[in-house]
Amino acid sequence: MPIVLSLIAVAIFALLMWVHFVSVSEQERTAARRSLGAALILPLPFLLVAWAPIPAVGILVWILLAAVALPIIVYLVPTADPKGFRNDAPTTRIDERTVMFSRAALKPGTPRFDDYYESHPEHRSNDDRFRALPGLMGQQSGKYEPLAFAAAEASFHTVGALAGLCEGEPKAETQEHDPEAATRFIKGWAGKLGALDCGITELREHHLYTVKGRGEKYGQKVDLNHRYAIAFSVDMDHASLGTAPEGPTVMESAQQYLTAGAVAIQMATFIRSLGWPAEAHIDGNYKVICPLVAKDAGLGEIGRMGLLMTPRQGPRVRLGVVTTDLPLLVDPATFDAAVLHFCSICRKCADICPVDAISNEERGEIDGAQRWRISSEACFGYWCAVGTDCGQCMRVCPYSHPDNTLHNLVRTGLRRSGLFRHLALRLDDLLYGRRPSPLPPAPWLPRRKRQ
Ligand code: SF4
Ligand code: SF4
Repeated sequence: MPIVLSLIAVAIFALLMWVHFVSVSEQERTAARRSLGAALILPLPFLLVAWAPIPAVGILVWILLAAVALPIIVYLVPTADPKGFRNDAPTTRIDERTVMFSRAALKPGTPRFDDYYESHPEHRSNDDRFRALPGLMGQQSGKYEPLAFAAAEASFHTVGALAGLCEGEPKAETQEHDPEAATRFIKGWAGKLGALDCGITELREHHLYTVKGRGEKYGQKVDLNHRYAIAFSVDMDHASLGTAPEGPTVMESAQQYLTAGAVAIQMATFIRSLGWPAEAHIDGNYKVICPLVAKDAGLGEIGRMGLLMTPRQGPRVRLGVVTTDLPLLVDPATFDAAVLHFCSICRKCADICPVDAISNEERGEIDGAQRWRISSEACFGYWCAVGTDCGQCMRVCPYSHPDNTLHNLVRTGLRRSGLFRHLALRLDDLLYGRRPSPLPPAPWLPRRKRQ
């Protein structure tokens, strides 16, 4: 038995040192410190019981063996899918003019502004409040940093310049392609262009806004009858998002809107060159609600913070969509109740949110579907005060950890076992903290001077 206990002590030490080195490489200082402490302390009881002359050693041996065996059993033995989570879709559609970004773009004194608040007086006082704040990337904002904000502006400006490429006429001559080969090519090429995951769904009513709320087509009815929607995700860099709510966060958001936009435009242009209609949906120029399309395309579930939770990056992605009539193979419908169960017990995003924009309650019915309620008004108001798009909820989400072997082992357990979901949440809190601090920015990134 001393040998067995000693081997277990070595295994625990090795496992925790692995966690330590991964944490160091991810700049997670708290996790690095705590895992090192645990690596030095947790093997000691096993070595003591193995080699020290202790009375009633038999009972202690069994306690220690149980302490090791139980988490392994919890991890390895799958449990039934959690009950009570409906896989449903909204039954109503959204007018894009009512979303916060559209309202933020309204200029006082213009007919558009007057018309909007005449028909939506209930939004006026809230919107006047955020208009009085410094604004997203504003110079007077709390997290103002000139280089980071200028870089983000440059990315947003470039996405804006791409807007004219979203639509176009297909080539006169239509090429026929085997749907299976076309689907394989599009998914493979999406990966080559920088997408993480790519899925295809039929375009459905609830994917579409009713009326355009931004850009030159403001106020126009959305009338899009393409048959398919290709949805893809692009990675938001863990290290940049880890600094949330500082300037590198908005730099990274803007950059990934640009990456997603460029991929969508290339793909739509490619499909039009085959003679099929196609349209790219990119930041500031959407006819579809990307997370709803991406969910139906099998890319993930809508979590507590109202964002798509993807299997390997959680909410740490940006989305792009291309709609088209090119014949393609649709991905089978998926439903991951385990993610919804984890969101129902986790609540880390709700706890860190400085303005309580994320609900701490259970899901309720929103637009005909079961969803967690989000206050986009409160969230956007905070952005206008700090000048970045905050991102603290994404930063602390246990699913946002990097896509590597350690975190993917945890993600496998989260998918398989309800008991492990409870255990993993406690371990995440222990290792990173319930309200983890932001990561330090990379050395080349500017550090904001504290006021
Ligand atoms: S932080 Fe927790 S509750 Fe929030 S989205 Fe992530 S897993 Fe869900
Ligand atoms: S981005 Fe910030 S303010 Fe908005 S919901 Fe997340 S934590 Fe709250």
